[in-house]
Amino acid sequence: MIVSLAIQSSRIHLRQSLQSFFIVGIVIALCAYAGILGRPMAFLSIFWPANAVLFGLFLHFKQLNNVGGWLGAFLGYMLADLSTGGFFFVTLALTCANLLNPLISLGLVKLFKLDYKQFNKGLTFVYLFVISSLGGCLASAAFAVSTVPHLPNTFMSLDRLWTDFGMWWTGEILNVVCFLPIILAIPSLKTAKSFVEDKRKQPFAIQNSLPMAFVILSLGLTYFFVGPGAIMFPIGALIWAALTYNLFLVAVVNCLVCMFMHHTISNYYLAESPDAFILTALSIRIGLFMLALGPLTLSIISLNRQKLYHQILYLANHDGLTTAMNRRYFYQESERMVSTENAKPQAKTVSILVMDLDHFKKINDTYGHAVGDKVLQEFTKQVQTQIRSSDLFGRIGGEEFAILLKDLTLKQSVDIAQRICNVVHATPIPLDDGTALNISVSIGLSYQSLPYCTKVQQLINRADTALYQAKEKGRNQLCVEPNLQGQWVNGSIVDA
Ligand code: GH3
Ligand code: MG
Ligand code: MG
Repeated sequence: MIVSLAIQSSRIHLRQSLQSFFIVGIVIALCAYAGILGRPMAFLSIFWPANAVLFGLFLHFKQLNNVGGWLGAFLGYMLADLSTGGFFFVTLALTCANLLNPLISLGLVKLFKLDYKQFNKGLTFVYLFVISSLGGCLASAAFAVSTVPHLPNTFMSLDRLWTDFGMWWTGEILNVVCFLPIILAIPSLKTAKSFVEDKRKQPFAIQNSLPMAFVILSLGLTYFFVGPGAIMFPIGALIWAALTYNLFLVAVVNCLVCMFMHHTISNYYLAESPDAFILTALSIRIGLFMLALGPLTLSIISLNRQKLYHQILYLANHDGLTTAMNRRYFYQESERMVSTENAKPQAKTVSILVMDLDHFKKINDTYGHAVGDKVLQEFTKQVQTQIRSSDLFGRIGGEEFAILLKDLTLKQSVDIAQRICNVVHATPIPLDDGTALNISVSIGLSYQSLPYCTKVQQLINRADTALYQAKEKGRNQLCVEPNLQGQWVNGSIVDA
């Protein structure tokens, strides 16, 4: 038994390792190829996403961080470089330097107990960049300059050690700020699907495209007025984008802007003063790193505020015990439904159901308040299965609830109310001690179609009168308001 369990678990580990090997290997090889192709002749590439992508992959998709994943990354780097003319020992040293960045960065994340899943919480993101730029990126640069220049067929020379060190380190930090956020903010399949669905449903809004248009415009400006100020041209548009788009999109825009700006500004300064090229390149890279930090941090803080605002709004509008709307919100939304202030009210007909649990006090007295609370919660769930998401459902008193059904005929509304009555009566509520409790509900219904001349409060009063009658008649039943009772035939409603 134990042996078979051990075999099974080692098989699972092997499968996971193989999966990681192929996924990480392919991704890193592709990133390395992209970096090599974008590399200026005999010089270090500024576009080198592989190290930041590897760090991000192991943070975001923890299941990839295993022996297979590291082996895949190693082979990915090696194959990409060797197949594009790299010499074995130089490639090996470069690969070790590359791997050192994610390795040290991940180690520091663990050491400082940085909860990377909370990367979207304010300063965690900034800490992540500090850790990576002063840890992994520095170690990677130091390893590269202390090994590569000593090897045969190398492209690094001992007399420009500090230059190579500076170029490697600043290249790494710029790549981290450009690519790490993209990998960390990759949405789940579910989030991506619902994003696309939402976009499809919403009509095209020009204001959503404006920040993007201004980002492009600000980049275009650098062609005409390139100079010391150009590095700040996109900041306004980037801040606008950070306040408008989701983190993934902001990260992608940020990355494209940095790469574009690096290209434009470096070209300009290289032509202007080739002597000071190294210092200028370092200055541009550190400047762009700082530029990219702003919109990213702003975007995260703004998204967190929005999320918090929606949570607070939800809590302010819903009942804490049952999650149904609270009384104030139910009234407010119902008034909006029948309001004739806009030329067209939102609903052509409205039915109000006022529901009151029968003998609820007895349940509390017999089984205790906690069971009473559970009954209220279970009752809410049962009702929610019987109504549409567009209907309004609120708790308007202790064990008193109300529903607003819109755009239904009187008969359809009565059928729904009757169904709620039957379902509640027929569904026992399971208790913790294994027994079950049968409950029932009485319902009063009022109905109104266009043109509205009644306030919601009057409709609720009318439904309340009908509810009172249902209680009088023996509970566990539905009564419609008195002026509709002419339409009862054999215990059910006939539409006029
Ligand atoms: P009827 O069939 O006539 O409606 O009788 P009833 O016992 O349901 O009505 P009554 O108004 O006498 O009692 C309602 C009870 O609901 C009294 C109150 O203690 C209880 N109640 C109100 N809010 C809550 C709550 O949040 N939790 C619990 N457990 N009980 C509540
Ligand atoms: Mg009651
Ligand atoms: Mg009551």
